[in-house]
Amino acid sequence: MGLMRIVVLAGGIGGARFLLGVRAYAERHGADVTAIVNVGDDVWMHGLRICPDLDSVMYTLGAGIDPDRGWGRADESWKVKEELASYQAEPTWFGLGDRDIATHLVRTNLLNAGYPLSAVTAALCERWQPGITLLPATDDRLETHVVLAEEAIHFQEWWVRHRAELPASNFVFVGAESAKPAAGVLEALAEADVILLAPSNPVVSIAPILAVPGIREALTAPVAGVSPIIGGAPVRGMADKCLSAVGVECSAQGVGRMYGGELLKSWLVDPVDRATEVEGVGVIPTPLYMTSPEATAEMVRVAVESLP
Ligand code: GDP
Ligand code: CA
Repeated sequence: MGLMRIVVLAGGIGGARFLLGVRAYAERHGADVTAIVNVGDDVWMHGLRICPDLDSVMYTLGAGIDPDRGWGRADESWKVKEELASYQAEPTWFGLGDRDIATHLVRTNLLNAGYPLSAVTAALCERWQPGITLLPATDDRLETHVVLAEEAIHFQEWWVRHRAELPASNFVFVGAESAKPAAGVLEALAEADVILLAPSNPVVSIAPILAVPGIREALTAPVAGVSPIIGGAPVRGMADKCLSAVGVECSAQGVGRMYGGELLKSWLVDPVDRATEVEGVGVIPTPLYMTSPEATAEMVRVAVESLP
């Protein structure tokens, strides 16, 4: 066998931390890694195109992330945000740091010049050298909206402004039906030896990737998923709110069954969730806290070795 090819479907923070482990594993075993990243959270703010999940992954792998916040740039300042607030320029609830804004300026200029997001991402990565190939799921418009009692709002408004506290009844991936996989996505999947689902939010990070027509069908290599839920709760964030909105139990078993045997060959759960059963899927208990790239690389090894 030549170089092993690993493709990872990923969201933001959970995806980024997982990819640190995938990269460490790949360095040790000589594998090639491509991440297909959620774009459903992407949004226009103050005339700038923001791609939160792509940036979390890019900054994390490029060692530019703020490690405490888990998003945005290290050593950040907020002067532009303060000035915008003085103008009462909406939205005031979204954190745009000064360093981060440079990324959004470069991205927006390239998009306005006509480059697709995949090419723009590659250009940004020339600076950050993430060591893996980063691809947006699609170059087309795909926006996650949250259905509330009376209206639907952009996912970012629900998540950041309202802290996921407004009761949601569903999520809609606006534009998904006519979106096409971004340049390179189908090629990477066709060449993949293994496909890994990062322990990202299943409802608003992984589902919007799978909602792009053609991507699910292209998952012909065996798939191993890693649970973002340990002991009935998300390790971090508000995935429980998203799962309850779509009627899925917040547990490793609930998420494993949501993905199901059509998608998964194996499902990694933490040892506390060892009783998990998912029909047609090999459930593998192994420690799932991503406390270091090495600990996560071990998780990746278990996932890869679980696949045929
Ligand atoms: P976001 O787009 O920034 O919200 O990030 P993702 O969707 O990629 O990941 C969020 C998920 O990562 C949450 O549901 C967390 O439960 C999960 N997560 C965070 N840290 C860990 C960890 O150490 N282990 C596991 N298994 N999941 C984690
Ligand atoms: Ca996200």
